[in-house]
Amino acid sequence: MNGITSITDKDRIFTNVYGFQSPGLKEAQARGDWDDTKALLKRDPDAIIEEVKDSGLRGRGGAGFPTGVKWGFMPKQPTPGRPNFLVINADESEPGSCKDREIIRHDPHKLVEGALISSFAMRARAAYIYIRGEYIAEAAAMQRAIDEAYEAGLIGKNACGSGYDFDLFLHRGAGAYICGEETAMLESLEGKKGQPRLKPPFPAGAGLYGCPTTVNNVESIAVVPTILRRGAAWFKSFGRENNHGTKLFQISGHVEKPCVVEEAMSIPFRELIEKHCGGITGGWDNLLAVIPGGSSVPLVPAKDIMDCPMDFDGLKEQGSGLGTAAVIVMDKSTDIVKAISRISYFYKHESCGQCTPCREGTGWMWRTMEKLVEGDADIGAIDRLYDVTKQVEGHTICALGDAAAWPIQGLIRHFRPELERRIAEHGDEERAAAE
Ligand code: NAD
Ligand code: SF4
Repeated sequence: MNGITSITDKDRIFTNVYGFQSPGLKEAQARGDWDDTKALLKRDPDAIIEEVKDSGLRGRGGAGFPTGVKWGFMPKQPTPGRPNFLVINADESEPGSCKDREIIRHDPHKLVEGALISSFAMRARAAYIYIRGEYIAEAAAMQRAIDEAYEAGLIGKNACGSGYDFDLFLHRGAGAYICGEETAMLESLEGKKGQPRLKPPFPAGAGLYGCPTTVNNVESIAVVPTILRRGAAWFKSFGRENNHGTKLFQISGHVEKPCVVEEAMSIPFRELIEKHCGGITGGWDNLLAVIPGGSSVPLVPAKDIMDCPMDFDGLKEQGSGLGTAAVIVMDKSTDIVKAISRISYFYKHESCGQCTPCREGTGWMWRTMEKLVEGDADIGAIDRLYDVTKQVEGHTICALGDAAAWPIQGLIRHFRPELERRIAEHGDEERAAAE
């Protein structure tokens, strides 16, 4: 490990994430937001994109695509009638994920300022924040921050006195998980049914209303002003090669103190939990497994997660992923089969039904999972289920199919003996009943 993997208060970007101070403009300015933003807007837009590339920032919404590289796909000179757009994904619906909510509730000016600077770098004159429908108080907090910024002349015409005109709109979703998929989000913003589009073309080629568009997660945009003020090298000093920066981790489940906390990328799992969560309920020996990145990534059993660096590559090596860094901790009291079955139901429920492997496969997988919870299946059901997950994975329009398949694959990979035990026990009970 060659970077900083544990941070102190002074390193934190989100200094009001617990809401100890007001989210209002005056207090945000006292915390350093909107500090000479005009000077940042005097910089060459391409230099801003380069700095974001150099910082190593990778998308914080789950996929980890390099943010600066994505921005570089946008046309440098928008053609008349085909403007560039930025869309900020605040649809945060991945089970376990709750970090964007904290930014919006307590530090919304970081997002407003980030939206302005990022849009400026990408030559976008308008940005949309698409917020999940259930985030009612959050939408109100976000709108308040947007209104304050307009009133203070920080956005709108001649934003911050820079000569750059920029508008920011808040759009509320209606409660569909699939609208967090970037192209379904664009469809929804256009007033259509939120169903994913085939990619390519990627949004930078044909996005909102067919115009060049970048879709970025809330956290990815909210960290941009600080990266530019403190410099790419500062951000890059956290974590390790290919896994840089600070990151909001959301730790839930069987820990003494669940929390959302900003830490250095690559912090080892055990240190993350000891430092911020007061340990595992019942002690470390009581840990069963962890879903480290929101419900769509496979679980990692206790023995493999302990010393694992919490980053894109560390978790990939364990057959899982960092995703949104929503860390769901499960101790030995968890019915692991039931837990994965419940996740399976979620994806069945949220499938948009557009493609057959997902529409049919998610229902089939969930029904089989429910049988396996009781052990009410023949032993071949485990391999049949695995085969079906492989038929769904990679054969659908969007990543929801993969997200439905991976948790089940993780369960079979790591807990096959538990599934076999249930089937055997159920068989014994049936035989006993028949005798
Ligand atoms: P993806 O890997 O297909 O794309 C990631 C981003 O990179 C997209 O913006 C895409 O347009 C861009 N991109 C990828 N290849 C490109 C190319 N060749 N040219 C131009 N742009 C390119 O992933 P995705 O489907 O956007 O997201 C899946 C992830 O979303 C999952 O890993 C999951 O963790 C996460 N997720 C998050 C939430 C949440 O609540 N935050 C909810 C559901 C899923
Ligand atoms: Fe819809 Fe599922 Fe196909 Fe995605 S994978 S487009 S959610 S049916």
